[in-house]
Amino acid sequence: MKIKAPKSVPVGGHNYKVEQDPSLALTKGNRGQCDNAKETITIDSNAIPSHKTTILLHEVLEAIKFVWFDNDLDHHTLDTISEGIFQFLGSLGIEIEWDD
Ligand SMILES: [Zn+2]
Repeated sequence: MKIKAPKSVPVGGHNYKVEQDPSLALTKGNRGQCDNAKETITIDSNAIPSHKTTILLHEVLEAIKFVWFDNDLDHHTLDTISEGIFQFLGSLGIEIEWDD
């Protein structure tokens, strides 16, 4: 089952906007970014679709870390959990469809 990439994601009482940026990797050196002050998640639009999905999962976990974990979870843990969730969604046949 393909589901459309979300335009926003709720985290606690907040609503994080999800956007793509073709220059993110060049300007920030990252393929994903979670700006908690602006409640915005940005994904490198040049990443391949499966990477966009794991980047999104990682950045949603960054927002969850900020909102619920007092910003105290290490980066490797977030990477591991996001890959695990990605595999779980794939095993259910759930795939995120990215516009570009
Ligand atoms: Zn991170």
